[in-house]
Amino acid sequence: MSAPGVTVGLFVFNEHWNAVTLQGHPKIGDIRKRFILESLDDLRVQLKKLGIPLIIRHGSVKTAINELASLGEIQSVHFSAEPATEEQTEAAAVESVLRGKCHRHETYTLIHPQDLPFSIQELPNLFTTFRKAVESDWHIRSSAQLPKPQPWPGMDLDLGEIPPVADLARSPFPGGESASLGRVKHYLWDTNRLRTYKETRNGMLLLDDSSKFSPYLAQGCISARSIYWEIKRYEAERGANDSTYWLIFELLWRDFFRFTLERFGAKLFRRSGLQGLELPWSRSAEHLEAWRTGRTGFPLVDAAMRELLATGYTSNRSRQIIASFFTKNLGLDWRLGAEWFESQLVDYEVGSNYGNWQYAAGVGNDAREFRLFNLKKQAQQYDPDGKFVKYWLPNLRSENLPEIVNFDQSARENRIKYERAALAMAGKSKPFGRHR
Ligand code: FAD
Repeated sequence: MSAPGVTVGLFVFNEHWNAVTLQGHPKIGDIRKRFILESLDDLRVQLKKLGIPLIIRHGSVKTAINELASLGEIQSVHFSAEPATEEQTEAAAVESVLRGKCHRHETYTLIHPQDLPFSIQELPNLFTTFRKAVESDWHIRSSAQLPKPQPWPGMDLDLGEIPPVADLARSPFPGGESASLGRVKHYLWDTNRLRTYKETRNGMLLLDDSSKFSPYLAQGCISARSIYWEIKRYEAERGANDSTYWLIFELLWRDFFRFTLERFGAKLFRRSGLQGLELPWSRSAEHLEAWRTGRTGFPLVDAAMRELLATGYTSNRSRQIIASFFTKNLGLDWRLGAEWFESQLVDYEVGSNYGNWQYAAGVGNDAREFRLFNLKKQAQQYDPDGKFVKYWLPNLRSENLPEIVNFDQSARENRIKYERAALAMAGKSKPFGRHR
């Protein structure tokens, strides 16, 4: 927000901050809360260096804007555009107060929406089609160079306190822009781990198996474009290889799900998914609780679920395994799993989370297919020495948890349900995927 000579930052804790879902768990879990609070602390420090105060308020953004407007005329308000329903409602409320003064900025994606070779409504359904189209002629904007603000004149205004983090559990990732820059420096320059990213990215245990940029991207501590240009600098100085390309490739998945959210809106949260595929999902409270707390009796699943609970993070490989088990073995409504991830993940992003869950459930905008992750094969390939399981389940033997379903039988039954629903919808036979 700026008025003549005055620029201020504003952060509002709205009603979602302490909201509880219908399932009875917080919408934003403690670990993500802590990460956001740490990020705000750092933001306040960084803005102060530029002479910009960060104002903290609780309630609605509209009320906070009205309070600032009562202190002097607001010339313009700048914020990042968010396509999800709750955020759009909030933005619309602010725009209703400050007509013509609001500026939404497209800072989220690697590719600026205006640089896409198609309109959002023409976004391809398949990631590969999307990727090939954008890669064929691509332009990535550089990070914005901001004008120097006027020094803060020190008005009589209570800036508001950032709530303390002391009681909140922490993730392995400290929040904030400074920490995000540190993580990029560590991963690219200090340890050179980018060089082998493609080979290690499916690792389940080690911090440097993958970039761990996701929490910073999710909370806006760093942009995908800044990371892209840092990778380009790395390629110029140390050379390009498959791994340097692959990290950019993964950032495109993030863009794809974000544009999918923009294109389909509320359909991303619909039970039957983007395909409109109606499946008889279970809502067993007992199975849901066993999965959430890592007590299903399947060590690979339980280890990943306990890691998520303890740290707010689990690797992409783990996420695919636990989402497959949730939808293909337990047959649970995928939205319950997505809601748990939303609460727990330190890197929660609406498009990436709901898009990946739809993909895992087989109701997303990819081919209609029953893709099942075979736990034995996954363990053999990605945790052959059992280090990941031992780390997160040190008392595996003494816990002696019974398996809550028969793996093969549950997969068979859910496969039949899936195939029936898909056939009913398509009206014709379709090839279905195999265990992988
Ligand atoms: P890296 O492997 O280092 O990848 C670099 C970056 O690419 C990531 O930081 C992320 O921004 C992006 N990326 C990589 N894979 C994906 C993907 N499949 N979809 C979208 N972006 C990707 N990612 C989130 O950021 N937020 C979520 O809420 C989220 N929910 C998920 C839910 C499910 C069921 C699954 C299967 C995946 C989900 N992912 C989500 C994607 C992925 O698991 C994480 O982005 C990744 O594990 C983050 O770790 P990293 O930064 O080390 O990833």
